[in-house]
Amino acid sequence: MNIVFLNGSYMPIDEAKISPLDRGFLFGDGIYELIPSYSGKMIGFKKHINRMNDGLKEIGIELNWRDEQWLSLCKNLITKNGTGNFGVYLHVSRGVDIKRFHAFPKDIKPTVFAMTVDIPASETPDLSSIKRYTLISSEDLRWQRCNIKSTSLLGNVLHFQEGHEAGCQEILLYNRNQELTEASSSNVFIVKNGVIATPIADNQILPGITRRLVIDILKSDGSFLVEERVITLDEVKNADEIWITSSSKGIAPVTVLDGNTVGTGKVGPIWLKAATLYDQKKYAE
Ligand code: PMP
Repeated sequence: MNIVFLNGSYMPIDEAKISPLDRGFLFGDGIYELIPSYSGKMIGFKKHINRMNDGLKEIGIELNWRDEQWLSLCKNLITKNGTGNFGVYLHVSRGVDIKRFHAFPKDIKPTVFAMTVDIPASETPDLSSIKRYTLISSEDLRWQRCNIKSTSLLGNVLHFQEGHEAGCQEILLYNRNQELTEASSSNVFIVKNGVIATPIADNQILPGITRRLVIDILKSDGSFLVEERVITLDEVKNADEIWITSSSKGIAPVTVLDGNTVGTGKVGPIWLKAATLYDQKKYAE
């Protein structure tokens, strides 16, 4: 039985009830996080909590939980659910109003919900067994504040569905200037002539924690040049390698984009080195 947390209590998921006047339900007025945890060990806990606090501040939700409160909630949920490979999902909405009205209500108490979701086991990177991704690309039609990890995910959902209906596992997005932004639920990296590049973390993308860990780990290793810069769609289409990163996928290689093979069509050698380094260092960061 999946044990979840709702407003101070742990309970089986089918006992967790939320009012239809919760602003998370009515407006998607909330912030969420997903922290990966393998056999009880979380990756990037502090970075995830910092990003959630940034999001809450950005949209004016006052919760003020201490890091230790989040840590014990995460640990309790992992234990209660049997310590597998989990994404620990944290969700804070603005709370329950007495009517449907757009302005923030005064003296409202945020709703805090958390659960674990199953994620694939973290595998030792291997060129032949690694899951490869097939993507299409599309113009990014989401809003101008993609840096906020908002529970209003309709823009992302519609893009993901577009990729899904095309038989793909993700969709790569570019802005109206034909510059890469991210994917519907992942960040994107490209490799050209041994140089690794990823878009700048501005308002057009979610500042992914895996993205940050990958950049920091690669930079501190020092074997590669890693650039955070504007990347054109043309560069993406001509890249030797494309990777997508997220908490549930780690670093995943893309071998087909818009029906064309990426680079040689095989999973690339730089991916192998980067994924191996990430695998070795991910808990330490
Ligand atoms: N971009 C978007 C739009 C996402 O939803 C996510 C998370 N699924 C990411 C990037 C990756 O972020 P993280 O590495 O923190 O999981």
